[in-house]
Amino acid sequence: MVVGEIPDPVDLLVVGGGPGGYTAALRAAELGRKVTLVDRGGDEGGIGGACLWVGCIPSKALIEVADAYHQTIAMRRAGLEVDAAAVNLATFQTWKGDLIAQLGGGVESLLASAGVEVISGRLRFTNGESAAVDTSTGTRFLNWKQALIAVGTRPSIIASLASASTSTDILAMKEIPASAVIVGAGYIGLELGTALAKLGTTVTVVEAAERIAPTIDPQLTGHVRRAMERMGVTFLTGHSVVGIDGREVTVAGEGGERKLNADRILVAVGRTPNTDELGLDRAGVKLDQGGLIEVDDSMLANPRVAAVGDVVAGPALAHKASAEAVVAVEALCGLPSKFEPRGIPMVVFTDPEIASVGLTEAEAAEMQIDVVVGQASLGANGRSATLGSDGMVKVVVDLASERILGLHMVGRHVSELVAEGALALEMIATPQDVTNTIHPHPTVSEGIHHALTSVVSKR
Ligand SMILES: Cc1cc2nc3c(=O)[nH]c(=O)nc-3n(C[C@H](O)[C@H](O)[C@H](O)COP(=O)(O)OP(=O)(O)OC[C@H]3O[C@@H](n4cnc5c(N)ncnc54)[C@H](O)[C@@H]3O)c2cc1C
Repeated sequence: MVVGEIPDPVDLLVVGGGPGGYTAALRAAELGRKVTLVDRGGDEGGIGGACLWVGCIPSKALIEVADAYHQTIAMRRAGLEVDAAAVNLATFQTWKGDLIAQLGGGVESLLASAGVEVISGRLRFTNGESAAVDTSTGTRFLNWKQALIAVGTRPSIIASLASASTSTDILAMKEIPASAVIVGAGYIGLELGTALAKLGTTVTVVEAAERIAPTIDPQLTGHVRRAMERMGVTFLTGHSVVGIDGREVTVAGEGGERKLNADRILVAVGRTPNTDELGLDRAGVKLDQGGLIEVDDSMLANPRVAAVGDVVAGPALAHKASAEAVVAVEALCGLPSKFEPRGIPMVVFTDPEIASVGLTEAEAAEMQIDVVVGQASLGANGRSATLGSDGMVKVVVDLASERILGLHMVGRHVSELVAEGALALEMIATPQDVTNTIHPHPTVSEGIHHALTSVVSKR
Protein backbone atom coordinates (compact mmCIF):
# COMPACT_ATOMS: atom_id res chain seq x y z
CA MET A 1 0.00 0.00 0.00
CA VAL A 2 1.24 3.49 -0.84
CA VAL A 3 1.18 6.35 1.69
CA GLY A 4 -2.07 8.24 1.31
CA GLU A 5 -4.22 5.18 0.51
CA ILE A 6 -6.49 4.98 3.53
CA PRO A 7 -8.17 1.56 3.76
CA ASP A 8 -11.81 1.15 4.82
CA PRO A 9 -12.26 -1.27 7.73
CA VAL A 10 -14.32 -4.37 6.80
CA ASP A 11 -15.65 -6.91 9.31
CA LEU A 12 -16.59 -9.77 6.91
CA LEU A 13 -15.51 -9.44 3.28
CA VAL A 14 -17.46 -11.58 0.78
CA VAL A 15 -15.90 -11.82 -2.68
CA GLY A 16 -18.40 -12.84 -5.37
CA GLY A 17 -22.14 -12.18 -5.54
CA GLY A 18 -23.33 -15.57 -6.84
CA PRO A 19 -25.39 -18.16 -4.90
CA GLY A 20 -22.36 -18.82 -2.65
CA GLY A 21 -21.53 -15.18 -2.00
CA TYR A 22 -24.99 -13.67 -1.56
CA THR A 23 -26.22 -16.54 0.64
CA ALA A 24 -23.12 -16.11 2.82
CA ALA A 25 -23.69 -12.35 3.07
CA LEU A 26 -27.33 -12.80 4.11
CA ARG A 27 -26.56 -15.50 6.72
CA ALA A 28 -23.70 -13.39 8.14
CA ALA A 29 -25.96 -10.35 8.42
CA GLU A 30 -28.54 -12.51 10.26
CA LEU A 31 -25.77 -13.45 12.70
CA GLY A 32 -25.06 -9.77 13.35
CA ARG A 33 -21.97 -9.36 11.15
CA LYS A 34 -21.24 -6.18 9.21
CA VAL A 35 -20.78 -7.47 5.67
CA THR A 36 -19.15 -5.96 2.58
CA LEU A 37 -19.76 -7.90 -0.66
CA VAL A 38 -17.64 -7.24 -3.76
CA ASP A 39 -18.64 -8.43 -7.25
CA ARG A 40 -16.92 -7.46 -10.48
CA GLY A 41 -20.01 -7.87 -12.72
CA GLY A 42 -19.16 -8.14 -16.43
CA ASP A 43 -20.25 -10.72 -18.98
CA GLU A 44 -20.09 -13.76 -16.70
CA GLY A 45 -21.45 -12.41 -13.39
CA GLY A 46 -22.90 -9.70 -11.21
CA ILE A 47 -25.22 -9.98 -8.19
CA GLY A 48 -26.77 -13.44 -8.69
CA GLY A 49 -23.52 -14.77 -10.18
CA ALA A 50 -23.00 -17.02 -13.18
CA CYS A 51 -26.14 -18.91 -12.12
CA LEU A 52 -28.41 -15.93 -12.70
CA TRP A 53 -26.62 -14.23 -15.60
CA VAL A 54 -25.23 -17.02 -17.80
CA GLY A 55 -26.09 -20.34 -16.13
CA CYS A 56 -29.07 -21.91 -14.37
CA ILE A 57 -31.71 -19.27 -15.15
CA PRO A 58 -30.97 -18.30 -18.78
CA SER A 59 -30.40 -21.96 -19.74
CA LYS A 60 -33.70 -23.03 -18.16
CA ALA A 61 -35.45 -20.09 -19.85
CA LEU A 62 -34.17 -21.25 -23.27
CA ILE A 63 -35.03 -24.87 -22.47
CA GLU A 64 -38.59 -23.82 -21.55
CA VAL A 65 -39.29 -21.83 -24.70
CA ALA A 66 -37.72 -24.55 -26.87
CA ASP A 67 -39.91 -27.15 -25.16
CA ALA A 68 -43.09 -25.09 -25.58
CA TYR A 69 -42.33 -24.87 -29.32
CA HIS A 70 -41.43 -28.57 -29.52
CA GLN A 71 -44.70 -29.53 -27.80
CA THR A 72 -46.65 -27.94 -30.67
CA ILE A 73 -45.03 -30.61 -32.86
CA ALA A 74 -44.79 -33.52 -30.40
CA MET A 75 -48.44 -33.24 -29.31
CA ARG A 76 -49.85 -33.15 -32.85
CA ARG A 77 -50.51 -36.89 -32.47
CA ALA A 78 -52.65 -35.99 -29.43
CA GLY A 79 -54.71 -33.59 -31.51
CA LEU A 80 -52.90 -30.32 -30.82
CA GLU A 81 -53.18 -28.10 -33.86
CA VAL A 82 -51.17 -24.88 -33.92
CA ASP A 83 -50.82 -22.77 -37.04
CA ALA A 84 -47.37 -21.39 -37.78
CA ALA A 85 -45.75 -21.67 -34.36
CA ALA A 86 -42.33 -20.01 -34.33
CA VAL A 87 -39.74 -18.89 -31.81
CA ASN A 88 -38.38 -15.36 -32.09
CA LEU A 89 -35.07 -15.44 -30.22
CA ALA A 90 -34.73 -11.66 -30.20
CA THR A 91 -38.02 -11.43 -28.25
CA PHE A 92 -36.84 -14.32 -26.08
CA GLN A 93 -33.70 -12.33 -25.18
CA THR A 94 -35.83 -9.40 -23.99
CA TRP A 95 -38.02 -11.75 -21.89
CA LYS A 96 -34.93 -13.47 -20.47
CA GLY A 97 -33.38 -10.08 -19.67
CA ASP A 98 -36.54 -9.09 -17.77
CA LEU A 99 -36.47 -12.35 -15.77
CA ILE A 100 -32.83 -11.81 -14.83
CA ALA A 101 -33.47 -8.19 -13.87
CA GLN A 102 -36.45 -9.21 -11.72
CA LEU A 103 -34.58 -12.02 -9.93
CA GLY A 104 -31.35 -9.99 -9.59
CA GLY A 105 -33.33 -7.03 -8.22
CA GLY A 106 -34.84 -9.38 -5.63
CA VAL A 107 -31.39 -10.44 -4.42
CA GLU A 108 -30.15 -6.83 -4.39
CA SER A 109 -33.07 -5.71 -2.24
CA LEU A 110 -32.54 -8.63 0.18
CA LEU A 111 -28.89 -7.57 0.53
CA ALA A 112 -29.89 -3.93 1.00
CA SER A 113 -32.48 -4.72 3.67
CA ALA A 114 -29.93 -6.90 5.49
CA GLY A 115 -27.57 -3.90 5.57
CA VAL A 116 -24.93 -5.52 3.32
CA GLU A 117 -22.63 -2.99 1.63
CA VAL A 118 -22.21 -3.96 -2.05
CA ILE A 119 -19.17 -2.74 -3.99
CA SER A 120 -19.07 -3.16 -7.75
CA GLY A 121 -15.46 -3.88 -8.71
CA ARG A 122 -12.72 -6.45 -9.22
CA LEU A 123 -10.99 -7.48 -6.02
CA ARG A 124 -7.44 -8.74 -5.44
CA PHE A 125 -5.86 -9.53 -2.11
CA THR A 126 -2.78 -7.48 -1.25
CA ASN A 127 -1.92 -9.39 1.93
CA GLY A 128 -3.49 -11.41 4.76
CA GLU A 129 -5.57 -8.46 5.96
CA SER A 130 -6.04 -6.09 3.06
CA ALA A 131 -7.42 -6.04 -0.47
CA ALA A 132 -7.71 -3.60 -3.37
CA VAL A 133 -10.89 -3.22 -5.42
CA ASP A 134 -10.73 -1.67 -8.89
CA THR A 135 -14.01 0.18 -9.37
CA SER A 136 -15.24 2.44 -12.18
CA THR A 137 -14.24 5.46 -10.07
CA GLY A 138 -10.81 4.27 -8.96
CA THR A 139 -9.24 1.79 -6.57
CA ARG A 140 -10.65 1.27 -3.07
CA PHE A 141 -8.60 -0.34 -0.32
CA LEU A 142 -10.18 -2.57 2.32
CA ASN A 143 -8.78 -3.79 5.62
CA TRP A 144 -10.66 -7.02 6.38
CA LYS A 145 -10.98 -9.14 9.53
CA GLN A 146 -12.38 -12.26 7.82
CA ALA A 147 -13.04 -13.13 4.18
CA LEU A 148 -15.23 -15.56 2.26
CA ILE A 149 -14.32 -16.34 -1.34
CA ALA A 150 -17.02 -17.35 -3.83
CA VAL A 151 -15.67 -16.12 -7.17
CA GLY A 152 -16.96 -19.02 -9.28
CA THR A 153 -15.70 -20.09 -12.70
CA ARG A 154 -15.54 -19.06 -16.36
CA PRO A 155 -15.79 -21.29 -19.46
CA SER A 156 -12.57 -23.23 -20.11
CA ILE A 157 -11.01 -22.21 -23.42
CA ILE A 158 -8.85 -24.69 -25.34
CA ALA A 159 -6.44 -22.63 -27.50
CA SER A 160 -7.07 -24.63 -30.70
CA LEU A 161 -10.86 -24.30 -30.22
CA ALA A 162 -10.87 -20.67 -29.05
CA SER A 163 -12.84 -19.39 -32.06
CA ALA A 164 -15.90 -21.47 -31.03
CA SER A 165 -18.85 -20.26 -28.94
CA THR A 166 -19.18 -20.75 -25.18
CA SER A 167 -22.44 -21.55 -23.41
CA THR A 168 -22.67 -17.82 -22.62
CA ASP A 169 -22.61 -16.99 -26.37
CA ILE A 170 -25.27 -19.63 -27.15
CA LEU A 171 -27.56 -18.32 -24.41
CA ALA A 172 -27.25 -14.79 -25.87
CA MET A 173 -27.98 -15.74 -29.51
CA LYS A 174 -30.73 -13.87 -31.32
CA GLU A 175 -31.15 -16.24 -34.25
CA ILE A 176 -31.72 -19.98 -34.36
CA PRO A 177 -28.78 -21.63 -36.15
CA ALA A 178 -29.61 -24.15 -38.90
CA SER A 179 -26.88 -26.47 -37.64
CA ALA A 180 -24.67 -26.79 -34.56
CA VAL A 181 -21.78 -28.94 -33.40
CA ILE A 182 -21.54 -29.33 -29.65
CA VAL A 183 -18.17 -30.36 -28.29
CA GLY A 184 -18.66 -32.11 -24.93
CA ALA A 185 -21.60 -34.25 -23.77
CA GLY A 186 -21.58 -33.11 -20.16
CA TYR A 187 -24.74 -31.66 -18.68
CA ILE A 188 -24.34 -28.21 -20.28
CA GLY A 189 -23.74 -29.70 -23.75
CA LEU A 190 -26.71 -32.06 -23.40
CA GLU A 191 -29.09 -29.39 -22.08
CA LEU A 192 -28.21 -26.86 -24.79
CA GLY A 193 -28.13 -29.61 -27.44
CA THR A 194 -31.69 -30.61 -26.49
CA ALA A 195 -32.89 -27.00 -26.58
CA LEU A 196 -31.31 -26.39 -30.00
CA ALA A 197 -32.69 -29.64 -31.42
CA LYS A 198 -36.18 -28.68 -30.21
CA LEU A 199 -35.80 -25.28 -31.91
CA GLY A 200 -35.14 -27.08 -35.20
CA THR A 201 -31.33 -26.93 -35.32
CA THR A 202 -29.54 -29.98 -36.75
CA VAL A 203 -27.28 -30.94 -33.84
CA THR A 204 -24.16 -33.12 -33.72
CA VAL A 205 -22.64 -33.86 -30.31
CA VAL A 206 -18.95 -34.82 -30.21
CA GLU A 207 -17.74 -36.53 -27.04
CA ALA A 208 -14.28 -38.00 -26.40
CA ALA A 209 -15.59 -40.58 -23.90
CA GLU A 210 -17.35 -43.70 -25.13
CA ARG A 211 -20.68 -42.58 -23.68
CA ILE A 212 -22.49 -39.33 -22.90
CA ALA A 213 -22.32 -37.83 -19.38
CA PRO A 214 -19.95 -40.62 -18.30
CA THR A 215 -20.29 -39.88 -14.56
CA ILE A 216 -24.05 -40.62 -14.61
CA ASP A 217 -25.68 -44.08 -14.44
CA PRO A 218 -25.69 -45.41 -18.06
CA GLN A 219 -29.27 -46.72 -17.71
CA LEU A 220 -30.41 -43.10 -17.21
CA THR A 221 -28.25 -41.53 -19.92
CA GLY A 222 -29.36 -44.28 -22.35
CA HIS A 223 -32.93 -42.90 -22.21
CA VAL A 224 -31.68 -39.36 -22.88
CA ARG A 225 -29.47 -40.41 -25.79
CA ARG A 226 -32.30 -42.33 -27.45
CA ALA A 227 -34.73 -39.42 -26.95
CA MET A 228 -32.22 -36.92 -28.38
CA GLU A 229 -31.61 -39.23 -31.36
CA ARG A 230 -35.37 -39.28 -31.96
CA MET A 231 -35.15 -35.45 -32.10
CA GLY A 232 -32.56 -35.85 -34.87
CA VAL A 233 -29.37 -35.38 -32.80
CA THR A 234 -26.28 -37.28 -34.02
CA PHE A 235 -23.76 -38.46 -31.40
CA LEU A 236 -20.10 -39.01 -32.18
CA THR A 237 -18.90 -40.59 -28.94
CA GLY A 238 -15.28 -41.76 -28.78
CA HIS A 239 -14.40 -38.78 -31.03
CA SER A 240 -12.17 -35.78 -30.25
CA VAL A 241 -12.06 -32.42 -31.95
CA VAL A 242 -8.71 -31.86 -33.63
CA GLY A 243 -9.31 -28.28 -34.77
CA ILE A 244 -11.80 -25.64 -35.82
CA ASP A 245 -11.44 -23.48 -38.91
CA GLY A 246 -14.30 -21.03 -39.37
CA ARG A 247 -17.45 -23.15 -39.61
CA GLU A 248 -15.52 -26.38 -40.11
CA VAL A 249 -14.77 -28.80 -37.27
CA THR A 250 -12.27 -31.63 -37.73
CA VAL A 251 -12.95 -34.63 -35.50
CA ALA A 252 -10.94 -37.81 -35.06
CA GLY A 253 -12.16 -41.18 -33.87
CA GLU A 254 -12.23 -44.80 -34.91
CA GLY A 255 -12.06 -44.75 -38.71
CA GLY A 256 -9.85 -41.66 -38.85
CA GLU A 257 -10.57 -37.96 -39.29
CA ARG A 258 -13.73 -36.38 -40.64
CA LYS A 259 -14.96 -32.84 -41.15
CA LEU A 260 -18.26 -31.38 -39.96
CA ASN A 261 -19.77 -28.06 -40.98
CA ALA A 262 -21.98 -26.02 -38.69
CA ASP A 263 -23.38 -22.51 -38.30
CA ARG A 264 -22.58 -22.63 -34.58
CA ILE A 265 -19.88 -24.54 -32.76
CA LEU A 266 -20.28 -24.77 -28.99
CA VAL A 267 -17.36 -25.90 -26.87
CA ALA A 268 -18.69 -27.08 -23.49
CA VAL A 269 -15.72 -28.92 -22.03
CA GLY A 270 -15.70 -27.57 -18.51
CA ARG A 271 -15.07 -24.40 -16.53
CA THR A 272 -11.96 -22.81 -15.01
CA PRO A 273 -11.97 -21.43 -11.43
CA ASN A 274 -11.58 -17.63 -11.18
CA THR A 275 -8.96 -18.11 -8.49
CA ASP A 276 -5.96 -17.23 -10.65
CA GLU A 277 -6.36 -13.43 -10.55
CA LEU A 278 -7.11 -12.92 -6.86
CA GLY A 279 -3.63 -12.94 -5.29
CA LEU A 280 -4.82 -15.71 -2.97
CA ASP A 281 -1.27 -16.71 -1.99
CA ARG A 282 -0.98 -13.25 -0.38
CA ALA A 283 -4.03 -14.10 1.77
CA GLY A 284 -2.52 -17.41 2.89
CA VAL A 285 -4.91 -19.53 0.79
CA LYS A 286 -3.73 -22.70 -0.94
CA LEU A 287 -4.92 -23.92 -4.34
CA ASP A 288 -4.85 -27.49 -5.63
CA GLN A 289 -3.50 -28.36 -9.08
CA GLY A 290 -6.82 -27.59 -10.74
CA GLY A 291 -6.96 -24.09 -9.19
CA LEU A 292 -9.58 -25.05 -6.59
CA ILE A 293 -9.25 -23.70 -3.04
CA GLU A 294 -8.37 -26.30 -0.41
CA VAL A 295 -10.81 -26.15 2.53
CA ASP A 296 -11.62 -28.26 5.58
CA ASP A 297 -15.08 -29.68 6.30
CA SER A 298 -16.17 -26.32 7.75
CA MET A 299 -15.23 -24.69 4.40
CA LEU A 300 -12.25 -22.90 6.01
CA ALA A 301 -9.08 -22.37 3.95
CA ASN A 302 -7.42 -20.92 7.06
CA PRO A 303 -8.86 -19.65 10.37
CA ARG A 304 -9.86 -16.26 8.84
CA VAL A 305 -10.72 -17.22 5.25
CA ALA A 306 -13.49 -19.50 3.96
CA ALA A 307 -14.28 -20.55 0.38
CA VAL A 308 -17.46 -22.01 -1.12
CA GLY A 309 -19.17 -22.95 -4.36
CA ASP A 310 -17.54 -23.67 -7.70
CA VAL A 311 -14.07 -22.68 -6.39
CA VAL A 312 -13.95 -25.68 -4.02
CA ALA A 313 -14.13 -29.41 -4.76
CA GLY A 314 -17.45 -31.15 -5.42
CA PRO A 315 -20.19 -30.74 -7.99
CA ALA A 316 -20.41 -27.23 -9.49
CA LEU A 317 -24.04 -26.57 -8.59
CA ALA A 318 -25.77 -23.47 -7.25
CA HIS A 319 -27.54 -25.22 -4.35
CA LYS A 320 -24.26 -26.83 -3.23
CA ALA A 321 -22.69 -23.33 -3.20
CA SER A 322 -25.45 -21.85 -1.05
CA ALA A 323 -25.52 -24.81 1.38
CA GLU A 324 -21.74 -24.51 1.83
CA ALA A 325 -22.08 -20.75 2.32
CA VAL A 326 -24.27 -21.18 5.41
CA VAL A 327 -21.76 -23.63 6.93
CA ALA A 328 -18.78 -21.38 6.12
CA VAL A 329 -20.31 -18.27 7.70
CA GLU A 330 -21.34 -20.14 10.84
CA ALA A 331 -17.79 -21.55 11.13
CA LEU A 332 -16.27 -18.06 10.68
CA CYS A 333 -18.60 -16.85 13.46
CA GLY A 334 -17.27 -19.58 15.77
CA LEU A 335 -20.40 -21.74 15.64
CA PRO A 336 -20.05 -25.53 15.30
CA SER A 337 -20.84 -26.21 11.64
CA LYS A 338 -19.71 -28.78 9.07
CA PHE A 339 -20.66 -29.49 5.45
CA GLU A 340 -21.79 -33.11 5.64
CA PRO A 341 -24.79 -33.60 3.36
CA ARG A 342 -25.88 -37.21 2.85
CA GLY A 343 -26.50 -36.32 -0.78
CA ILE A 344 -26.30 -33.34 -3.11
CA PRO A 345 -29.13 -33.57 -5.66
CA MET A 346 -28.20 -33.15 -9.31
CA VAL A 347 -30.46 -32.46 -12.29
CA VAL A 348 -29.81 -32.53 -16.03
CA PHE A 349 -32.58 -30.57 -17.74
CA THR A 350 -32.74 -32.68 -20.90
CA ASP A 351 -35.98 -34.28 -22.15
CA PRO A 352 -36.49 -36.61 -20.38
CA GLU A 353 -34.75 -35.03 -17.40
CA ILE A 354 -32.22 -36.84 -15.24
CA ALA A 355 -32.38 -36.26 -11.48
CA SER A 356 -30.21 -38.04 -8.99
CA VAL A 357 -29.18 -37.92 -5.35
CA GLY A 358 -26.92 -40.15 -3.25
CA LEU A 359 -24.98 -43.28 -4.14
CA THR A 360 -25.37 -45.00 -7.47
CA GLU A 361 -25.21 -48.78 -7.76
CA ALA A 362 -21.66 -48.49 -9.20
CA GLU A 363 -20.48 -46.17 -6.41
CA ALA A 364 -21.90 -48.54 -3.76
CA ALA A 365 -20.04 -51.45 -5.43
CA GLU A 366 -16.78 -49.44 -5.44
CA MET A 367 -17.27 -48.72 -1.73
CA GLN A 368 -18.01 -52.43 -1.16
CA ILE A 369 -21.44 -51.70 0.30
CA ASP A 370 -23.95 -54.53 -0.19
CA VAL A 371 -27.11 -53.01 -1.62
CA VAL A 372 -30.52 -53.96 -2.95
CA VAL A 373 -31.52 -52.10 -6.11
CA GLY A 374 -35.18 -51.45 -6.90
CA GLN A 375 -36.50 -50.21 -10.22
CA ALA A 376 -39.76 -49.00 -11.72
CA SER A 377 -40.40 -48.18 -15.35
CA LEU A 378 -42.12 -44.89 -16.01
CA GLY A 379 -43.46 -46.48 -19.20
CA ALA A 380 -46.23 -47.89 -16.97
CA ASN A 381 -46.78 -44.58 -15.10
CA GLY A 382 -50.08 -42.93 -16.06
CA ARG A 383 -48.89 -39.34 -15.67
CA SER A 384 -45.73 -40.00 -17.71
CA ALA A 385 -47.88 -41.46 -20.47
CA THR A 386 -50.02 -38.29 -20.61
CA LEU A 387 -46.79 -36.27 -20.79
CA GLY A 388 -45.77 -38.31 -23.82
CA SER A 389 -42.72 -39.62 -22.00
CA ASP A 390 -41.25 -42.70 -20.39
CA GLY A 391 -38.17 -43.26 -18.21
CA MET A 392 -37.34 -45.08 -15.03
CA VAL A 393 -36.71 -44.76 -11.30
CA LYS A 394 -33.89 -46.62 -9.60
CA VAL A 395 -33.34 -46.81 -5.86
CA VAL A 396 -30.26 -48.03 -4.01
CA VAL A 397 -30.85 -49.38 -0.49
CA ASP A 398 -28.26 -50.54 2.04
CA LEU A 399 -28.78 -54.25 2.68
CA ALA A 400 -27.54 -54.18 6.28
CA SER A 401 -29.15 -51.01 7.66
CA GLU A 402 -32.11 -50.85 5.22
CA ARG A 403 -31.33 -47.14 4.70
CA ILE A 404 -32.08 -45.55 1.34
CA LEU A 405 -28.68 -44.56 -0.11
CA GLY A 406 -29.62 -43.23 -3.55
CA LEU A 407 -32.49 -42.22 -5.84
CA HIS A 408 -31.87 -41.91 -9.57
CA MET A 409 -34.53 -41.02 -12.12
CA VAL A 410 -34.99 -40.25 -15.77
CA GLY A 411 -38.34 -38.90 -16.93
CA ARG A 412 -40.31 -35.74 -17.58
CA HIS A 413 -40.58 -33.45 -14.50
CA VAL A 414 -38.32 -35.64 -12.30
CA SER A 415 -36.32 -32.49 -11.41
CA GLU A 416 -39.27 -31.57 -9.18
CA LEU A 417 -39.18 -34.96 -7.40
CA VAL A 418 -35.53 -35.40 -6.46
CA ALA A 419 -35.89 -33.37 -3.24
CA GLU A 420 -38.00 -36.32 -1.95
CA GLY A 421 -34.89 -38.49 -2.29
CA ALA A 422 -32.67 -35.85 -0.65
CA LEU A 423 -35.12 -35.67 2.27
CA ALA A 424 -35.21 -39.48 2.55
CA LEU A 425 -31.40 -39.55 2.73
CA GLU A 426 -31.21 -36.75 5.33
CA MET A 427 -33.97 -38.40 7.44
CA ILE A 428 -32.18 -41.78 7.18
CA ALA A 429 -35.41 -43.18 5.76
CA THR A 430 -36.03 -46.85 4.94
CA PRO A 431 -38.05 -48.04 1.92
CA GLN A 432 -41.04 -48.64 4.24
CA ASP A 433 -40.98 -44.98 5.36
CA VAL A 434 -41.57 -43.97 1.76
CA THR A 435 -43.95 -46.78 0.77
CA ASN A 436 -46.08 -45.95 3.84
CA THR A 437 -46.31 -42.38 2.53
CA ILE A 438 -49.24 -41.87 0.17
CA HIS A 439 -48.13 -40.54 -3.21
CA PRO A 440 -50.77 -38.71 -5.29
CA HIS A 441 -52.20 -40.24 -8.47
CA PRO A 442 -51.59 -39.66 -11.31
CA THR A 443 -48.12 -38.23 -10.76
CA VAL A 444 -44.63 -39.22 -11.78
CA SER A 445 -43.84 -39.46 -8.03
CA GLU A 446 -45.66 -42.82 -7.96
CA GLY A 447 -42.58 -44.17 -9.77
CA ILE A 448 -40.53 -43.59 -6.58
CA HIS A 449 -43.18 -45.44 -4.57
CA HIS A 450 -43.16 -48.35 -7.01
CA ALA A 451 -39.36 -48.62 -7.12
CA LEU A 452 -39.20 -48.78 -3.33
CA THR A 453 -42.13 -51.20 -3.16
CA SER A 454 -40.07 -53.53 -5.37
CA VAL A 455 -37.29 -53.39 -2.74
CA VAL A 456 -39.69 -54.09 0.13
CA SER A 457 -41.16 -57.08 -1.69
CA LYS A 458 -37.65 -58.48 -2.36
CA ARG A 459 -36.94 -58.64 1.38
C1 LIG B 1 -24.86 -22.90 -18.80
C2 LIG B 1 -24.89 -23.24 -17.32
C3 LIG B 1 -26.02 -23.82 -16.77
C4 LIG B 1 -26.06 -24.13 -15.40
N1 LIG B 1 -27.20 -24.69 -14.89
C5 LIG B 1 -27.25 -25.00 -13.58
C6 LIG B 1 -28.43 -25.56 -13.01
O1 LIG B 1 -29.42 -25.80 -13.69
N2 LIG B 1 -28.42 -25.84 -11.67
C7 LIG B 1 -27.33 -25.58 -10.88
O2 LIG B 1 -27.39 -25.84 -9.67
N3 LIG B 1 -26.21 -25.04 -11.38
C8 LIG B 1 -26.15 -24.74 -12.71
N4 LIG B 1 -25.01 -24.16 -13.22
C9 LIG B 1 -23.86 -23.97 -12.31
C10 LIG B 1 -24.07 -22.74 -11.43
O3 LIG B 1 -24.20 -21.60 -12.25
C11 LIG B 1 -22.88 -22.58 -10.50
O4 LIG B 1 -22.67 -23.79 -9.78
C12 LIG B 1 -23.10 -21.46 -9.49
O5 LIG B 1 -23.30 -20.24 -10.16
C13 LIG B 1 -21.88 -21.34 -8.56
O6 LIG B 1 -22.08 -20.30 -7.66
P1 LIG B 1 -20.84 -19.51 -7.01
O7 LIG B 1 -21.42 -18.59 -6.02
O8 LIG B 1 -19.80 -20.48 -6.59
O9 LIG B 1 -20.17 -18.70 -8.22
P2 LIG B 1 -20.79 -17.75 -9.37
O10 LIG B 1 -22.26 -17.88 -9.49
O11 LIG B 1 -19.97 -18.06 -10.58
O12 LIG B 1 -20.48 -16.30 -8.85
C14 LIG B 1 -19.19 -15.81 -8.78
C15 LIG B 1 -19.22 -14.30 -8.81
O13 LIG B 1 -17.90 -13.84 -8.48
C16 LIG B 1 -17.62 -12.67 -9.21
N5 LIG B 1 -16.16 -12.50 -9.30
C17 LIG B 1 -15.26 -13.31 -9.92
N6 LIG B 1 -14.00 -12.83 -9.74
C18 LIG B 1 -14.12 -11.71 -8.99
C19 LIG B 1 -13.18 -10.76 -8.48
N7 LIG B 1 -11.88 -10.87 -8.69
N8 LIG B 1 -13.65 -9.72 -7.77
C20 LIG B 1 -14.99 -9.55 -7.54
N9 LIG B 1 -15.91 -10.43 -7.99
C21 LIG B 1 -15.49 -11.49 -8.71
C22 LIG B 1 -18.29 -12.91 -10.57
O14 LIG B 1 -18.62 -11.68 -11.20
C23 LIG B 1 -19.54 -13.71 -10.19
O15 LIG B 1 -20.68 -12.89 -10.10
C24 LIG B 1 -24.95 -23.83 -14.57
C25 LIG B 1 -23.80 -23.21 -15.13
C26 LIG B 1 -23.77 -22.93 -16.47
C27 LIG B 1 -22.54 -22.25 -17.03
